[in-house]
Amino acid sequence: MTSSQYTPMIQQYLQIKANYKDSLLFFRLGDFYEMFFEDAEKAARELEITLTGRDGGTDEKIPMCGVPYHAAEHYISQLIEKGYKVAICEQVEDPKEAKGVVRREVVRVITPGTTMEGKKLLEKENNYLVSLFSVPSGWSIAACDVTTGDFLATELSENFQQALDEAAQFQPAELLIPEQELNQERIQLIRQLTNATISTIAINHGKDEDQDINFIGENASPGIHAAVRGLLQYIKENQKASLRHLNSVKIYAKEEFLMIDPVSKRNLELIETIRQKKREGSLLWFLDKTMTAMGGRLLKHWLDKPLINIDQIEERHQAITYFINHVIPRNEIRTILKRVYDIERLISRISFGNANGRDLAHLSISLSLLPKLANLFYSEGNKFEYPYLFRIIDQMDLAEDIVQLLQSAIVDNPPLSVKEGGIIRDGYSSYLDQLRSARKEGKHWIAQLEQRERQETGIRSLKVGFNKVFGYFIEVTKPNLHLLPKDRYERKQTLANSERFITPELKEKEALILEAEEKIQTLEYDLFCEVRDKVAQQIHRLKKIAKDLAQIDVLQSLATVSDDHGFVKPVLTEKGVLHLTDNRHPVVESVLQDGPFVSNDVFIGDDQQILLITGPNMAGKSTYMRQIAISVILAQMGCFVPAKKAKMPIFDRIFTRIGAADDLVGGQSTFMVEMHDICVTTTQATDRSLVLIDEIGRGTSTQDGMAIAQSVIEYLHDRIHCKALVSTHYHELSALENQLPKLKNFCMAVKEEGDQVHFLRKIKRGAADKSYGIYCAKIAGVPNDIINRAIELISVHEEMKHQVQETATSNETNIVTIEEPIQLELFSSRELEKEKKRNDKHEEVIKKLKEVDLINMTPLEAINFLYEIKKKI
Ligand code: ATP
Repeated sequence: MTSSQYTPMIQQYLQIKANYKDSLLFFRLGDFYEMFFEDAEKAARELEITLTGRDGGTDEKIPMCGVPYHAAEHYISQLIEKGYKVAICEQVEDPKEAKGVVRREVVRVITPGTTMEGKKLLEKENNYLVSLFSVPSGWSIAACDVTTGDFLATELSENFQQALDEAAQFQPAELLIPEQELNQERIQLIRQLTNATISTIAINHGKDEDQDINFIGENASPGIHAAVRGLLQYIKENQKASLRHLNSVKIYAKEEFLMIDPVSKRNLELIETIRQKKREGSLLWFLDKTMTAMGGRLLKHWLDKPLINIDQIEERHQAITYFINHVIPRNEIRTILKRVYDIERLISRISFGNANGRDLAHLSISLSLLPKLANLFYSEGNKFEYPYLFRIIDQMDLAEDIVQLLQSAIVDNPPLSVKEGGIIRDGYSSYLDQLRSARKEGKHWIAQLEQRERQETGIRSLKVGFNKVFGYFIEVTKPNLHLLPKDRYERKQTLANSERFITPELKEKEALILEAEEKIQTLEYDLFCEVRDKVAQQIHRLKKIAKDLAQIDVLQSLATVSDDHGFVKPVLTEKGVLHLTDNRHPVVESVLQDGPFVSNDVFIGDDQQILLITGPNMAGKSTYMRQIAISVILAQMGCFVPAKKAKMPIFDRIFTRIGAADDLVGGQSTFMVEMHDICVTTTQATDRSLVLIDEIGRGTSTQDGMAIAQSVIEYLHDRIHCKALVSTHYHELSALENQLPKLKNFCMAVKEEGDQVHFLRKIKRGAADKSYGIYCAKIAGVPNDIINRAIELISVHEEMKHQVQETATSNETNIVTIEEPIQLELFSSRELEKEKKRNDKHEEVIKKLKEVDLINMTPLEAINFLYEIKKKI
């Protein structure tokens, strides 16, 4: 098909579309935005609207669908939520004056990372657009939330995977990457880590450099410049609007914070739960007692990036102490904060020029609360005891001039529309007041007209009404028509039972009212824009206020949680022992239904650097390990910790290897994921790191697994000298206590009563002597036949072990005795053969899954494929 066969309009469409290939093009046609070809098919499917066809100059109709322009916003936000980008193409000349096809241009592209509106913008979540640029020494990252103005950047001398890990911490809505840096492998990696829409950018050197320096500062590295400029270029090209509401870029280094890689964050369920991927049940959910959206977002940021600077951490602890010691002001402060709107997003909309009257009223209400808020702090508490908190309060701008402007200009409950008046308060503009009184007088005259006319004509049912087509009219029912005097009334409309009339006097008043109305609307809109611009000029002051409020809110939230759950202020040291008395897992504790949470002590340091924990399944090993990591994170983000007493060193990084989170999507087996985590830990941990390994070497043979576990533990002990907790089912590893002076055995206490086993959830010194695996299988409901056979097999194993031990000579090397070869003999060669076949099938299935092209399959093919796979396994 040559494009010349298409009608001129479709040719115009195709020309424009060629520049916006990765967006859905909303093409304005009269009162509709239309989509054509593939865009139409996609949009019709996603929006569940009818797909039709349109003649486009060819034999076949062109697929088309459309949405009315006045309802477009709703449809656009649905598409953005699904990760699409939408290019808005408008008619840019008056159709009446156009020669040929009306000229059209894309005026704006809305993308998931640049949208200012929509449901997707969750109150307490940022909406980041993140750019990732390769630089000679590694990668640079810039992250910007256009809805709040937050703008951060960093540079990493690391590989793509690690840079992506850092970028993913922002949970980007959209990830921007130079076209030449993107390939299939990287796209797959991005998909594994984020739900971001991937966008590419062609770098446009030199353009707007001076203006961009305002955001970046002159001292930033060339790498940071590249990432920031790329990101700004993308926003400018798409938004085609002012960027003055963005903050200047805050440059950070990963090492300034406690580093927790994304896998560990997931394992520790900091932001969402592992299984359901929900906020509820996560540490963030537990901690969030913030009253404002700004506080909610900052809390997440603090949790994402705990500090390592002891002074900064202690400042936060000190502020929490204030709130804990002053409960009454705290509660009042919480009540005030609850009434504060999302100032950050309000000011972004104000500066962006899309704030309405209600937004200004919300800003006014929020700012008017500041003096009362500040006074509450001064009412109680010695400010010299809490210098950090009172520095915020002392330096807080109360914005009285802005409140004064807003209160005098904007009514209390303005309408949503900015063009229909009703926004500006009486007394703000004398001209507006004059117009309003003219309108009022006119309306008053009309209101009295009904009475006057009734008296003059004697028609008691006579009514004065108004509609948009005829304006004001006098309505008389048919039986009364004869009572009307002849000349004064001009007939305008006949209804079934009545007639409508106008009089010259009525028309004159009507003209006055309508003229005033029109002038009022124009004037109000102009005045509103003037006020909005005046406020926009104060944007930097308002941003600072928003940040101050967010901090106060997070601090009160952490204090409220600490107070409600009996947390304690930790004593921090740069280095040294980690000692917690009666430590708890706050989230497990808060959701535990059967029985109280059992607290445990923790001591790691001196000659007890590595704790090797053995014990049965379900005994509480993972919980114990996680609660230690969570306590460290809480302490370093500035919160108190769930313990009765806490002495803690500052950690630089937390590594976790927990559970068997299969990475089948990433094409890695459980064992490979485990080994990858171990590789990261052993190559990156330092003597100031905390390492948690919950089971190691399980996905391979016992012999290999145990050997790997031992060598990893020895490496941590001898080479890294970090603090570590390692849990294992290989009881044999407890012999390591005799070889590694800084490793100590611990186990979870268990009480047996008849055939009942009670997990006491208490950690104690020493190694466990049993695993209770079969007991756990029983309570999980595994059939009795299987349980009995397992018990039988155990006695056979025990018997054989006994015989071997009697004949074996003692082992002289420092390798822990591994009985695996003997255990293996328990399996007949037939069983081994079976096992091998199973593994082969496994691999075959995984290979098939990897290769299948789901996108291009019909549902029937998919079902057949599933059936085939099922048959295999
Ligand atoms: P596995 O080896 O099977 O992973 P585990 O020893 O790691 O088991 P956890 O997952 O830590 O056991 O704990 C199992 C359950 O026991 C938890 O889900 C929790 O409900 C409960 N639990 C754990 N620790 C405690 C505690 N200290 N007090 C009360 N209940 C606890």
